[in-house]
Amino acid sequence: MSPVRVGLIVACLVGLGVLMHPVSGGAQSCPGGRLLLLTNGRIHTMDAQRTVVSRVRIANGRFVEVGDAAGSGVGCTDTIDLRGRTVIPGMIDNHFHVQLVGSRPGYETRAIETAFSIAEAQAVIRERAKTVPEGAFITAIGGLQPRQFVENRLPTLAELDAAAPRHPVYIHVSFNGPAVTNTLGKRFFESQAIPVAASGLIEVNGPTWNALDALRANWTLADTKRTMQQVFGYFNSMGLTTVHSVLGSQDRGPAQYFGWNEQRPMQELQREGALTLRLRLYFNTGPRVDGKPGNPRLADVLDTLWPDLGDDLVKTAGIGEHVVDWPLEGAVPLGDEYYQSVRQVARHGWQMMEHSFNEPNHAARADVWERVHREFPITNLRWSIDHVNTIEPPTLARMKALGVGVRAHGWRFLAGTPGQAGPPFRLLLDSGIHVGTGMDGAQAAPIDPWLNVYYMVTGRNVRGELINDGQQITRQEAVWLYTGGNGWFSRDEQRLGTVEPGRLADVAVLSADVFDPRAVPDEAIKRVHSVLTLLGGRIVHGSAAALGP
Ligand SMILES: [Zn+2]
Repeated sequence: MSPVRVGLIVACLVGLGVLMHPVSGGAQSCPGGRLLLLTNGRIHTMDAQRTVVSRVRIANGRFVEVGDAAGSGVGCTDTIDLRGRTVIPGMIDNHFHVQLVGSRPGYETRAIETAFSIAEAQAVIRERAKTVPEGAFITAIGGLQPRQFVENRLPTLAELDAAAPRHPVYIHVSFNGPAVTNTLGKRFFESQAIPVAASGLIEVNGPTWNALDALRANWTLADTKRTMQQVFGYFNSMGLTTVHSVLGSQDRGPAQYFGWNEQRPMQELQREGALTLRLRLYFNTGPRVDGKPGNPRLADVLDTLWPDLGDDLVKTAGIGEHVVDWPLEGAVPLGDEYYQSVRQVARHGWQMMEHSFNEPNHAARADVWERVHREFPITNLRWSIDHVNTIEPPTLARMKALGVGVRAHGWRFLAGTPGQAGPPFRLLLDSGIHVGTGMDGAQAAPIDPWLNVYYMVTGRNVRGELINDGQQITRQEAVWLYTGGNGWFSRDEQRLGTVEPGRLADVAVLSADVFDPRAVPDEAIKRVHSVLTLLGGRIVHGSAAALGP
């Protein structure tokens, strides 16, 4: 489904205050409360036995009965006939830069990441144009690469004109560009003294940064909320119901741009009851204040907040993905400022996630973490190393002994080459360390978790090249990394990630049976999505009617 339609559905649901759909049965008063029964499905619970059941009963936002005998119970029961569809627990992305998405100007068009040819990209833009006010910018910024299109190039000005003759269009690769625009966009950028080639191309770095600034000139908090909400709808359309939000980013933050702090749009959406994703908040204490050493941001967080503060929808989780300034953190060996900061995190009993690419990064961390651990044990603090493109077994064993987990990210589906692959999914799973996955979207990587599932299962990048051979995992394992495997990181393993009595009733009803290679050949995994997504038992994407006759 296009993000446009998703956005509309979400907006309608929120606008009407209708979040538990009447499915069958009337609107009579229900002393026993409203119950929801899902029947006739292939519900992969992702519990320890990997049980598959046909029915579950939901009450007050949680699963209360799971199994083929689940009944309607006492009270008014709505029933959804799943019509044999495959169902999985709501998916969790364990590392995502939410504010990066929210601060994107224009009418963001995330479905571009599921376009694998110029014609498909044109179709996405054409669809988007139907609901964007005439003259407003249709944008797609980050999370895309020319190589995702079979033509191995960006669309041209003429191709964008053909898709959206009445809207300016701006498509921007990764962090710095390049970007491409159409005739209306070219007219706008040239009026701002930003050079645009006849082909529509805007060069990397300077010109693309200026283009983003120009697009943000009249950007408002309401625009950010609209964008965020619409992108959250896109998450829901893929089956995602929880995101670990990594605050802070390499981008200039909204405070510099717009004068509000980066959590404010999320706060307001929460207050308005408009969040359709559970958020787990991580605090990026890395950026230096006025370029000075010391770590006042970290002291602020540790002195004023505590982890696991909040509720099932939004709660604080930890420090990350940078505890100190990134260049310091990348230095090997790590210096005293790093040691002192990490020591404070452990001393205060906080969780920490850390950007850590490769073996020298991990080994340097293990040295410091083991030293800190002798003074303030970290075994139960759920620390993690994030991204982990490579790791050597001895270092992995050291991390495992510390109780540290690995968040392995699949962004090399998009960016990876035969010499630049990983993470070593097979090695990680076989090691027995806590492991989960995500995409680290949406600047370097897409959001769509099924692109990552495809990568984990096949070892192939978006060009179809086998780049991660020997590290493939099964479809069951890949989906588990997105569900049960991710519960542990935010201390949600008793709440999220599996379909079991007492857990929060988040599920995704899939477009196809991704566990059956005959129904979904490897190449088709990239096209899987959710046709019905429930968050705490309420519909946040799709409709029961769409499940078919
Ligand atoms: Zn990172």
